[in-house]
Amino acid sequence: MKEIIFSKYTGFCSGVKRCINLTEREILKNKKVFALGELVHNEQEIKRLSSLGLITINNIQEINTKEDNSVLVIRAHGIEKNILEEINKKIKNFINGICPIVEKNQKIVYEYSNKGYNIIIYGDIEHPEIKALISYINPDVKYFTINSIEETKKLNFLPKDKILLIAQTTKEIKEYEKIIESLKKRFKDLKISYSICKETILREKDTKILAQKADCIVIIGGKNSANTKKLVNIAKNYNQNVVLINSESELNLKEFKNYNKIGIISGASTPKWLVEKIVKKLNLLS
Ligand code: SF4
Repeated sequence: MKEIIFSKYTGFCSGVKRCINLTEREILKNKKVFALGELVHNEQEIKRLSSLGLITINNIQEINTKEDNSVLVIRAHGIEKNILEEINKKIKNFINGICPIVEKNQKIVYEYSNKGYNIIIYGDIEHPEIKALISYINPDVKYFTINSIEETKKLNFLPKDKILLIAQTTKEIKEYEKIIESLKKRFKDLKISYSICKETILREKDTKILAQKADCIVIIGGKNSANTKKLVNIAKNYNQNVVLINSESELNLKEFKNYNKIGIISGASTPKWLVEKIVKKLNLLS
């Protein structure tokens, strides 16, 4: 008999859930709903929302700004300051689905850079959350993005410089702690924003526990989701049998024949309905 062990942290995080709920509410009102960029880093969920009527656009010029029945939704990761300003001016109906935690980080960066603090971001420069965060930095200060403790070596600030250190909400907490300790030794006026989201930290911890308990770990999430990839790397430190999938069609039951305890966890942008579909298929093994 196979045992399937669930992590408490499957399905969307609260920020993504809120944004999707806001979107669906507008769709149910029979509005023409647009999303500026991918609403969530999950292909399956995008397909589901598109089938309900969501239209993904890459530029606000693609939306009829005067139309009463059109609504533009801004994703949980946020968007660049200048684009938000343009939306405020031009778009009649829009819903800001930005996660409150992400928004708070934008305010922190804005406030400190205006006080003359240079900004160090532990985050991925290509990630929409970081692109948006950078847009809130006062251009009079310098900023750097780093992805690891090794990259702190390239920082060319002086020990007396004013520095704010902040992290992408979904980055790895252990690495951030190392970066904090290292920078504390280098800079006298270092302000630290403990900006990694608590839900991210709990998901990471549970991945570690689950990877030690189970014979095999199934991580469900988009292959383009940084957050899902990170969970895969954490699980691999404790378990050799880690499978990353994003749909039930990718699940090959033969692979699981020899495992008795199968652990299930998902990325923060994976919907619960997708997890349930995959578990239903896994249950065929019992
Ligand atoms: S991971 Fe945390 S900060 Fe990021 S969208 Fe989800 S709840 Fe918000």
